[in-house]
Amino acid sequence: MNEKKVISDISKSFFEGKKVFVRVDFNVPIDNKTNSIREDYRIRRAISTIDYLLDCGAKIILGSHLGRPKGRRVNELSLEIVANRLSQLLDRKVIFCRDFIEDKLAEKIDLFPNKSVVMLENLRFYKEETDNDANFSRRLAELADIYVNEAFSTSHRTHSSTYGMALDFDTKLAGFLVDKELKFISKMLKEPEHPFIVIIGGSKIHDKMTALGNLLEIADKIIIASGAGYTFIKANGGKIGDSICENEMLEWAKKTYKKYKEKIVLPIDHLVSESSKHTDSCLIVNSDIPDGHKALDIGPKTIELFTSIIKGPGYIFWNGPMGVFESDTFSSGTIHVARAIALATLRGATSVVGGGETIAAIRKAEVLESEISHMSTGGGALLEYIGGTKLPGIEILD
Ligand code: ADP
Ligand code: MG
Repeated sequence: MNEKKVISDISKSFFEGKKVFVRVDFNVPIDNKTNSIREDYRIRRAISTIDYLLDCGAKIILGSHLGRPKGRRVNELSLEIVANRLSQLLDRKVIFCRDFIEDKLAEKIDLFPNKSVVMLENLRFYKEETDNDANFSRRLAELADIYVNEAFSTSHRTHSSTYGMALDFDTKLAGFLVDKELKFISKMLKEPEHPFIVIIGGSKIHDKMTALGNLLEIADKIIIASGAGYTFIKANGGKIGDSICENEMLEWAKKTYKKYKEKIVLPIDHLVSESSKHTDSCLIVNSDIPDGHKALDIGPKTIELFTSIIKGPGYIFWNGPMGVFESDTFSSGTIHVARAIALATLRGATSVVGGGETIAAIRKAEVLESEISHMSTGGGALLEYIGGTKLPGIEILD
């Protein structure tokens, strides 16, 4: 599955003077009050691919989305601020292009010198992007000679920039980051080191269930907390009060638990709060969660149980926080798990962590990027891939 051609698989001279369209994921959090980027991690991670292509003497055209403008021009979601940051990071001019469809951009780029960097305005300002409109795809494809996917996180989408435009290219390559994602995940699915420990939490339960189904086959232990965890607890007859749960999946959870009980580890105590309040006051509940209460974090015994399993060496995959870690009152479980994974990695485990909030939680736990083997940029795409779905943005590559 990961045998996709990477930019470094081709001779460097092939890129010289060529126009290379790189689909990146610069969907960074913006603070609109101060009009600044809160976190530029996603931009920094694309630098090695951009640097490499510049070194080859290519002209680079970067396309990305930012937020969900739903086909309209939304000033707050302009990528201009991102182009400026990229320019600082690269220490070279980045030409920002507001009107890449109307403008005669293709001809202009032809006149630009090699090693020029062009950043297009938010692709999702055009409804045609998410519609995978054929005409829009063709217009984008006309801008370049070579297509590169460096946006693993949007590879599950059949959009113009992730799929439709790529059809028009003879050369469709993976960027370094996409290659790294594929390598880590393929290894995990095919030949993980053992014990292979999976930790699933978070609120998007439905999305995670198919991935869970696959992981249960190959993992040695699966820790299931938060939304998916309460679904399992409820399916087993436990009382979960008003905690988040996917009722549609109860039957599935019941069957799955029966089949894999030796592998599945569920929370044994919880930090709960009154549902209506969701504030800083909380109490520890050992088993049944009373009505009118919601579990918002795992309890101290569960922390002990989970961290005793996350030891290393072996392979560790984590997606989804253990609780509402955004609140300091309910962040302890998530922080302990994050630090346990970092420690296990020091002891020789290979650790893969993915998901938007999970990465944010890693930062809150003050775990460094270097303390985790691979921080995946993919949330939905990662889960779909693990669940066995073929990603259109990856399938299309050479
Ligand atoms: P990721 O983005 O890492 O894939 P999700 O989007 O599935 O993770 O879930 C992250 C969100 O889940 C966080 O914002 C967190 O506040 C929320 N969450 C975690 N545990 C609970 C819980 N027990 N009750 C309600 N929300 C929770
Ligand atoms: Mg999320």
